[in-house]
Amino acid sequence: MKKIVAWKSLPEDVLAYLQQHAEVVQVHPAQHGTFVAALKDADGGIGSSVKISSAMLEGASRLKALSTISVGYDQFDVADLTRRGILLAHTPDVLTESTADTVFSLILASARRVVELAEWVKAGQWKHSIGPAHFGVDVQGKTLGIVGLGRIGGAVARRAALGFNMKVLYTNRSANAQAEQTYGARRVELAELLATSDFVCLQVPLTSETKHMIGAAELKSMKKNAILINASRGATVDEQALIEALQNGTIHGAGLDVFETEPLPADSPLLKMANVVALPHIGSATHETRHAMARNAAENLVAALEGTLAINIVNREVLKK
Ligand code: NAP
Repeated sequence: MKKIVAWKSLPEDVLAYLQQHAEVVQVHPAQHGTFVAALKDADGGIGSSVKISSAMLEGASRLKALSTISVGYDQFDVADLTRRGILLAHTPDVLTESTADTVFSLILASARRVVELAEWVKAGQWKHSIGPAHFGVDVQGKTLGIVGLGRIGGAVARRAALGFNMKVLYTNRSANAQAEQTYGARRVELAELLATSDFVCLQVPLTSETKHMIGAAELKSMKKNAILINASRGATVDEQALIEALQNGTIHGAGLDVFETEPLPADSPLLKMANVVALPHIGSATHETRHAMARNAAENLVAALEGTLAINIVNREVLKK
C-alpha cells in the first residue's frame, strides 16, 4: 500500500478518502525530525503553510507527488522538486471568490475605518454623534490598481467594476483580455498604476521577481491619500518601508492579510497604527472554502500517485521525465 504524509490536519471525510487509497501518516510540522523521517519512505505528501526545503527531501527516494492545500506554492523549491521528479499540485480556483471577498473587506474596512471605529464603540467612547474626525473615504467610484490581475485579481476587479463602479487599472506581464472587456480594466505600467490609484491591491504570486516589488520608492510614488491592500504574500512588500511610509504619512493606510513574518510578531509597529487593518492570513479561510481546498488537494494527490492527474499541476515538466 502507498504511504502519504499529511502535515496539516484534514477534515474527517477528506482523511477517510485518502485512507481508501493509502496509509496516511499524520505529522506535526513542529516535530521536524519525525516529519523528515516520515517523508523518507513516503510516496506522497499533503499539507500547507510549511516551507519544504530541499534538505527535507534528501533520501525520500519513493516520493512521487506533493500536494499543497493552497494556490500559492512559494513554500516549495519547484526547480528542485522537478529535478527530483516530484510532481507538485496546488488548488487554484476553489479559493478565488473567498479570497476576493477578503480583499474587498480589507478595502472597505480600511476606507471606512470599520475596525478602528468598531473598537472605539466597544470601548464605550461613542458619547456624541460623530464628526469629521471619524469620517472615512469613499470606495465607490474610485480607482483600484490591481498588481497581478489573474484569478483572484479578476474576481476583485468584478466586485470593483460591477459592484462599486470603480475604475480598474492593472499590471501583469501579459494582458488579461477578459478583464479588459468585461470590467473595463486598463493595463498600465506599474509606475502609472501607483501614481493614479486610490487603492493599490497586490495579488501576484511571491517569486524572486515579485519579492519586495513594493518598497520605499514605490510607496513614495503613490498618492498621499492612497491605501495599500496586500493579500498576496507578505514579502511582496518591503514591510519596514511600509511601516515608515505609514508613520510618515507617505500613504494614508493599509489593509493587510499577509506579513513578512507570520504570525505577526507582537512588537510589530503595524499593530499600533490606527490606519492599518491587520488580519491573520484569512484570505481563503471560510469553512466551505477550506474544506473544498482540502478535498481538492487530496484528489490531486491520489490522481498524481495513480498517474492520472491532468490539472492543477505546478511543474508539468515532471510528466515528460
Ligand atoms: P494567478 O491566477 O496566477 O494570478 C497571478 C497574477 O499575477 C497573474 O495575472 C500574473 O500575470 C501576475 N504576475 C505574476 N508574476 C508577475 C510579475 N512578476 N509582475 C506582474 N504580474 C505578475 O494566481 P491567483 O490564483 O490569483 O493567486 C495569486 C496569489 O494570491 C497566490 O500566488 C497566493 O500567493 C496569493 N493568495 C493569498 C491568499 C491569502 O490567504 N491571503 C489566498 C489565495 C492566494 P502574468 O503571468 O501575465 O504576469
